[in-house]
Amino acid sequence: MDINLPKSILPRVVIVGSGFGGIQLAKSLKGKPFQLVLLDKNNYHTFLPLLYQVATAGLEPDAIAEPVREIFSEQRNFFFRMAEVLRIDPQQNQLETTIGLLRYDYLILASGSQANFYGNEELTRHALPMKTVRNALALRSHLLENGERALELLDKQQQMEQLNIVIAGGGPTGVELAGAIAELRDIVLAKDYPELPIKQMHIHLVEANSRLLNTMAEDSSRKAYHFLRSMGVTVHLKTLVQSYEGTVVTLSNGESHPAKTLFWTAGVEGVIIPGLSATSVGKGNRYIVNAFNQVEGYPTIFAIGDNALQMMPAYPHGLPGLAPVSIQQGQQLARNLVALNRKQPLQPFRYVNKGVMAVIGRNRAVVELPFWHTQGFIAWLLWMGVHLLLLVGFRNKSATVLNWAVNYFSYSRASRLIARFQNSPVESVTSVSRP
Ligand SMILES: Cc1cc2nc3c(=O)[nH]c(=O)nc-3n(C[C@H](O)[C@H](O)[C@H](O)COP(=O)(O)OP(=O)(O)OC[C@H]3O[C@@H](n4cnc5c(N)ncnc54)[C@H](O)[C@@H]3O)c2cc1C
Repeated sequence: MDINLPKSILPRVVIVGSGFGGIQLAKSLKGKPFQLVLLDKNNYHTFLPLLYQVATAGLEPDAIAEPVREIFSEQRNFFFRMAEVLRIDPQQNQLETTIGLLRYDYLILASGSQANFYGNEELTRHALPMKTVRNALALRSHLLENGERALELLDKQQQMEQLNIVIAGGGPTGVELAGAIAELRDIVLAKDYPELPIKQMHIHLVEANSRLLNTMAEDSSRKAYHFLRSMGVTVHLKTLVQSYEGTVVTLSNGESHPAKTLFWTAGVEGVIIPGLSATSVGKGNRYIVNAFNQVEGYPTIFAIGDNALQMMPAYPHGLPGLAPVSIQQGQQLARNLVALNRKQPLQPFRYVNKGVMAVIGRNRAVVELPFWHTQGFIAWLLWMGVHLLLLVGFRNKSATVLNWAVNYFSYSRASRLIARFQNSPVESVTSVSRP
């Protein structure tokens, strides 16, 4: 059965994914002569850069997620349907979804990325990914449950094993998570669990490269390393997580660390929807796109954001998986869809790198702008300012400011409920293991 939508003589643009790319594209098409349909398996947009704060009890999920219907409440000719896209039929220009079939004139795949465990079944089963609100809430519950479980153990060594944390991946997400967990340990867990040896809880950050934040400059990497060490995080460089069966993490340098928790931020791959030719998918499981974001071999199908592999001279391995890349591709694609409709020539996408940043903790961040690098307190203020500006919606911004202010001055974390989403048919959390 077809998804119920009003009849229209306008060409139909279907966008899959209400992430940074999909939302920007839909906003940029406001008032343009298209019938716009946005599909997502969730009814909200997630501001992923602050997800780690939900995982570490600093923010409630509502502060970083905005309902799609709220974002587009004033946009006409726009239709949102909460549905998972299961298959693309490029011959019929049609999608198969969990709520029915949908015909398209132009299809935009903005379905983002997911954790990549490189085919390791053990890691898939036991390591905890952080890509969605559900993941973050499961991680938060897991971190806090560790404290509750450790209280039941009589042996100090077993208690420490219950509390220890290993994080795989020293990119921005791993670094931010390590810093936030170190703060959680020192200012919250130590206070909440005076009976436990919280001060001896180990946090290990494992990175395959010779430095942390290896997509940033060396001075930022060095500073991030120094910050984390000073916060009591053990950093293992040039090291891989080799195996984990739920109790002991084995590293490629021969070390083994007992830990009931392994967080996985060591790799991502594009979310590919079945139906297109295998030759349209390249490195990192991403759709190979040309300079106009057209998927190889499909003139009316486009991919933007994390699931697009777009190579340019400055980025021979493809553009990085960053929010500004998705946003800028969304803006450019909107202009190109209008041009395509008017049978005008398309303009190639150019990425403008306005800077990168990572936060390590209270008063500690590293920021690289095109003309200036800074680290420490000023960088931290800049990081907060930029993230507040980018957050979607006034309600999210005010909730975040309020939470940050309370956390900063009270040295506490308010969102410490142990509560999990039930598995839902549209998004499974089966990869989140239970202790
Ligand atoms: C924890 C974390 C921290 C990050 N920090 C930063 C940062 O500090 N700075 C930065 O620039 N970038 C950061 N990133 C990367 C940035 O968030 C991504 O590059 C960006 O979200 C990609 O946008 P997107 O639109 O491609 O996909 P996403 O934002 O991932 O959105 C994809 C959407 O598609 C939906 N979807 C997927 N499959 C289907 C389907 N089959 N049917 C229907 N809907 C579907 C999903 O539900 C989701 O809403 C971070 C990422 C993570 C995970």
